[in-house]
Amino acid sequence: MFLDSLDYTITGNTIKKTSWEQDAQKALVKALRELQQKRLMEDPTIKNLKETCKIAYKNYQCPVCSTTGHDILQAAHVGTIIKTKINDIVNKYFNTLSFNELLDKVIQEENNSIIQICCRKCNKQCE
Ligand SMILES: [Zn+2]
Repeated sequence: MFLDSLDYTITGNTIKKTSWEQDAQKALVKALRELQQKRLMEDPTIKNLKETCKIAYKNYQCPVCSTTGHDILQAAHVGTIIKTKINDIVNKYFNTLSFNELLDKVIQEENNSIIQICCRKCNKQCE
């Protein structure tokens, strides 16, 4: 297969406009959500827990429903949707707190959460 690298370049201005990039409050929610997810993804304890469920490359067993064949496992917030909490924080403190103060509030919410390692399907049921 020959792939011409020039066929795989685009100019930045052709990237589709998102709903959040034109709305400062939505962009703030998105940024906080991305960092909160990164925080979970990079956490060594969560990584280790996922690793113990690994059967082979892209094959994990879910510790909740015991099914296998999952390409990834997720870190689910039990009983609380963190996305909703992030929305609430931004609604309440938009224009009054700095980004770092907002992030700190998100982390405080997460500190009060129970996080379950599970498959996508069980993640949906945790919420
Ligand atoms: Zn499951």
